[in-house]
Amino acid sequence: MPSSLLEPEDRVLSTLEKDGSRRWLSPRLSGGSFLTARRMFAYFLIVAFTLTPYIHLLFGLEKPLVLLDILHRKFILFGFTFLPTDTILLALTLVTLLVGIFLMTALFGRVWCGWACPQTVYMEFVYRPIERLFEGTKGKGGKSRKPVAGWKRVARYGVYLLVSMYLAHTFLAYFVGVESLAKWITSSPFEHPVAFVIMAAVTGAMMFDFGFFREQTCIIACPYGRLQSALLDRQSLIVSYDKTRGEPRGKKRKPSEGEAEQAGDCVDCHLCVDTCPTGIDIRDGLQMECIGCAQCVDACTPVMAKLGRDAGLIRYSTQAAMDGESAGLLRPRVVIYPVIMLVLLTALTVLLSVKKSADVVMLRNLGNPFTLMEDGQVSNSMRIKITNRREMAAAYQVEPVGDVVTRIELAENPLAIDPGASRTEGVLIVLPRSAFTKGVCDIVLHISDGAGFEQAITCRLLGPYGPAKDKASNTPAGSIPETTGQGDAS
Ligand code: SF4
Ligand code: SF4
Repeated sequence: MPSSLLEPEDRVLSTLEKDGSRRWLSPRLSGGSFLTARRMFAYFLIVAFTLTPYIHLLFGLEKPLVLLDILHRKFILFGFTFLPTDTILLALTLVTLLVGIFLMTALFGRVWCGWACPQTVYMEFVYRPIERLFEGTKGKGGKSRKPVAGWKRVARYGVYLLVSMYLAHTFLAYFVGVESLAKWITSSPFEHPVAFVIMAAVTGAMMFDFGFFREQTCIIACPYGRLQSALLDRQSLIVSYDKTRGEPRGKKRKPSEGEAEQAGDCVDCHLCVDTCPTGIDIRDGLQMECIGCAQCVDACTPVMAKLGRDAGLIRYSTQAAMDGESAGLLRPRVVIYPVIMLVLLTALTVLLSVKKSADVVMLRNLGNPFTLMEDGQVSNSMRIKITNRREMAAAYQVEPVGDVVTRIELAENPLAIDPGASRTEGVLIVLPRSAFTKGVCDIVLHISDGAGFEQAITCRLLGPYGPAKDKASNTPAGSIPETTGQGDAS
């Protein structure tokens, strides 16, 4: 019985067959100058990605270069520590990065996707080469030249698993640090079951991504490709097929009498399609799936050379240039983005330059604003919160400046604080009643760690409004009753 469903005219996605089943892509390898350059750059990135978590150990630095410690809510980026209290700094950094990506895309299109994205780097320069090692290079149409033995497929996935485990460990080193990672690796999984499950889950995610999901991450999952149409303009660098030169495409044949010579340079060899890692045909124009990897350029260049035609039928160019328009490097977006970046970077630099190795905050305790003591002195109950931003333990001495304060009491002084930790302690500050003018007295506390950190913090203390009165007399009008000091901290 004939199906009542209409046959689709074409594929909806380059990774789906017309009937909706998965279209497995095995892109043909096309050697060329772009592939060589991308390969060198990819190996450099892989080495950099692997070594970055160890840089501080290799060079004896105090902090890792990059640490995204989500559990302890601490981020270290190129020597700067961002704590939960540094929301503005973190927001400025992220917005600067985002604007930088916008600018890079406006200028160079999806150069990030094709040249530097970890998905492309590991897929094209680690996992696919492993696949080719076991199953050989693909022939026309991306099909294997001969049947692949079962053991080769098993071996391929075995190597994938090893590489995925290495990748998962490297990836996690950025989140937990190499010291924790070393502990996880060298001890039994039963001693750290949660860490083991995390490691296994990340390895599984890598296997799923690079072994099964593959190019669909770029086509379906990654939002960056979808933003492409908004971020690119007609002057952005993209990989383009020169339609004017290439069409009408087809095999060259001798024109019969009276027939004009076939003009197009494209001989429809399909090599540019077979080599595309996202399975598209660049001759259909700019598509969301194009990651700008230039594999199709490398595929077409030797074909043109063989035919004795100029290279560049497929090339890095702009839509405007392809349509014969003049180059317009200066466009609103390539001026506005750098201006925004400059403002953000200036703000970031200023904020970072005033950041010290510790944050100190003085807070007033709830309850009585002050207590009038038996000896006639006044005490204020405060809290001090110190955050040690350094990667080593520190002890902070808290001392009053000047001689107005009679006594200062803390649980311990200096206060010992672990690396990257915060500590809040009560502070009792005692001073003579005569130090207060109209119920207030500003004092300065000096906090230092003996290792370069020093900060003076002004603190407003509360006390009786007026001078001491005889017990029998009335309290001056508008004052806080001196014997109780009742009321909430202001
Ligand atoms: S590789 Fe070049 S000649 Fe071959 S189909 Fe693609 S564009 Fe045409
Ligand atoms: S069309 Fe060309 S540049 Fe775009 S993804 Fe395919 S091979 Fe890479």
